[in-house]
Amino acid sequence: MRKQIAAANWKMNLTYQQGEKLLDEILHEKHALGAQQQVIFAVPYPYLIMAKSEVANEQNYFVAAQNCHHKKSGAYTGEIAVDMLKSIGIPYCVIGHSERREYFNESNQELAAKLDLLLEQEIQPIFCCGEPLSVREAGNQNEFVEIQLKESLFHLSATQLTKVVIAYEPIWAIGTGKTASSAQAQEMHAFIRSVLSKQYGAEVADSVSILYGGSVKAANADELFSQPDVDGGLVGGASLQSAEFIAIIKALKK
Ligand code: PEP
Repeated sequence: MRKQIAAANWKMNLTYQQGEKLLDEILHEKHALGAQQQVIFAVPYPYLIMAKSEVANEQNYFVAAQNCHHKKSGAYTGEIAVDMLKSIGIPYCVIGHSERREYFNESNQELAAKLDLLLEQEIQPIFCCGEPLSVREAGNQNEFVEIQLKESLFHLSATQLTKVVIAYEPIWAIGTGKTASSAQAQEMHAFIRSVLSKQYGAEVADSVSILYGGSVKAANADELFSQPDVDGGLVGGASLQSAEFIAIIKALKK
């Protein structure tokens, strides 16, 4: 079975103390994860080491950076390099979140470069894709997402692709309280898997975890995660409340 993942994306929220308290509350629950289940906390850079030590003794709980730079090193004041993440032992990194694509003009080509750097350092990328509302309304979401996948991922070998987690996040559902229906999520996840299958074969495509993101909460996680091609969620707002996020973790497929 593919990995089933609940990934929290804190974005630019919480002080260090609030973040520590939130992690304590979630981990205090002592929810034992199955061998194929994982929980990942994508926290702000200054909290990575703290979060890493919080999860250190927990089976299948991990931390992630929320971004990295597409160049290896150099004169990029304020940016964070993949090698820096590697040097503090960070196992996952979110890339291509729609907020980064929109506010920081990140292109599919830059994301391809980030993927190369991350995979070179054996940090697993959580690659976000998804269409804006205008594209969904025009019925062109499949073409839009296929281009994102092709331009960023298709230069990877099959072995490299198996290390990538994909998060499908329709932009119109992120932070809006508007969730894609479970049927819409399943349809797109199956489409993404078919695109991967055409390029890499069914076995590779079947091994890739595809998370859904966009207003996942305790109340809808069960239904979304029960879809055959939905392998968990990337969760923003609801990951900031311990009770909500604990319920989301518990909704992962066994
Ligand atoms: C996200 O940040 O990736 C996200 C999906 O946010 P929210 O759950 O708040 O919609």
